[in-house]
Amino acid sequence: MRLEIVQVGEAVLRQAGKTLSPAEIVAPECQQLIELMRETMRNAPGVGLAAPQIGLSLQLAVIEDTGESEITERAPVPFHVIANPRLELGPEIVEFYEGCLSVEGFQALVPRSRSVRVHALNHKGEPVVIDASGWYARILQHEIDHLGGTLYIDRMRSRTFSTARNFARHWAGVPIPEVLARLETPETKSAT
Ligand code: ZN
Repeated sequence: MRLEIVQVGEAVLRQAGKTLSPAEIVAPECQQLIELMRETMRNAPGVGLAAPQIGLSLQLAVIEDTGESEITERAPVPFHVIANPRLELGPEIVEFYEGCLSVEGFQALVPRSRSVRVHALNHKGEPVVIDASGWYARILQHEIDHLGGTLYIDRMRSRTFSTARNFARHWAGVPIPEVLARLETPETKSAT
C-alpha cells in the first residue's frame, strides 16, 4: 500500500511537526506507519520522505539511497528512520540541484552544508548521532527542513528554478558555475 504524497499548498507542509516519545515510536501504529512510509518512498521513487509529506504533522522521516555519483559525493545509504532530529551544519557550502516529491515536476539549485551532524531517535526510539557528508548530508538537511515546515523552494537560487523537462533539455550536464553565469543577475552573483 502506498500513501498519498501531498503537494505544496497544503498547510501541513508549512507546520512544525510534533515530537514523538520513544514509547510512541515503538508502538505498533508508528512501526506500521514507518513501513508504509518506506513503501511510499520506494514507489515514488525518492531518497527520503517526511511525515508532513503524507499529511501527518510529526517529527518523523525515513531515508534510503541506493544511488552513487562522484560529482555529488553520493554513496548508498541504508534504510533508516530519524525522529525529533536536531541539526548541526558544517561551515562549507555546496550547490546542487534538488527536487521534492511535494513540489512535483520542478528542480532548482540549492546551497547546503557539505557536512552535518544530526542528533535524533532511531526506529527503536534510541538516541543516535549521525555524521554525514555529500549527498547524504543534503538528504538529511532536506528532510529535517520538512519537519520544521520548510521546503527547498525557501532556500533555492530562485532564478535556477526549472521544470524537470526544461532541466533535461537545457541544463543537464552543464557545470554549476556556468549555470549560475547564465541565469543569475550580476547583483545576485556579487551578493553570494
Ligand atoms: Zn521534499
